Amino acid sequence: MRLDVQDLRVSLSGRPILHGISLALNPGEVVGLLGPNGAGKSTLMRALAGQVAATGTMRLDDTDIAALSPAARARLIAYLPQTRIIGWRLSVRDLVGLGRLPWRGYGLRPSAEDEEIIASALALMDVAYLADRPATELSGGEQARVLAARAVAQATPLLLADEPASGLDPAHQIMMMRALRRLAAEGRSVLVSLHDLTLAARWCDRVVMLKQGLLAAEGLPEAVMTPQGLAEVYGIAAHFTRDEGGLILAPTGLTDGEAGS
Ligand code: ADP
Ligand code: MG
Repeated sequence: MRLDVQDLRVSLSGRPILHGISLALNPGEVVGLLGPNGAGKSTLMRALAGQVAATGTMRLDDTDIAALSPAARARLIAYLPQTRIIGWRLSVRDLVGLGRLPWRGYGLRPSAEDEEIIASALALMDVAYLADRPATELSGGEQARVLAARAVAQATPLLLADEPASGLDPAHQIMMMRALRRLAAEGRSVLVSLHDLTLAARWCDRVVMLKQGLLAAEGLPEAVMTPQGLAEVYGIAAHFTRDEGGLILAPTGLTDGEAGS
């Protein structure tokens, strides 16, 4: 389904945070959401997930996202929050199985189809070998992959992943991005916030850069992640190279005293 966001505005505790964001996401696309700490990336995702009040329009095809019941929303939008909290001592398999609840309700046993979807989500995030372990007893990176698998098991047309690669080892960062690409290849739309510029450049179809609650730039990674773009949005200088996989970007310094916010 196509996500269409127009003039999205959010205030938190009386403070305007997003000042009118418009963006679109097509099925099959992985779009990177970039921007310094505090730019509004998480707030944008929380607004789409119905966790903070917003004005403007948010549509998935012809469906008004804001008008959806929580259950209906959970069948359309999966949200992987930036803060990774596992509250209950469930096994990894059962935790990932919670992603199926919007489709079957409490109390009903997982169907054969549920079991299949859970198994493929465990495999996609490389946590199948942890399936019987209590999720609360895993490392931070393992927990991050388990929570990502739960969002995948929700099998929604739109996936919002807030910094899913943060804290993962390099192999699992690449695995995470490959997994998102695979989900997009199945026809889902994926919005993923990232701080790793090389991961964003190599794995995203497009990137959207936020700065202070406004859309600063949007387009192909090569068009947006330029020396000028990175200086304006992040206040950094970077070393640029490329290989057959795309751009490689290494931040090398600050352009002035105003990096980030
Ligand atoms: P990002 O994810 O891009 O780092 P966030 O969306 O988390 O940024 O935050 C955007 C801005 O909103 C920040 O300046 C942050 O301080 C502010 N903010 C977040 N939550 C609240 C809140 N509950 N009340 C007031 N301001 C908030
Ligand atoms: Mg954030």
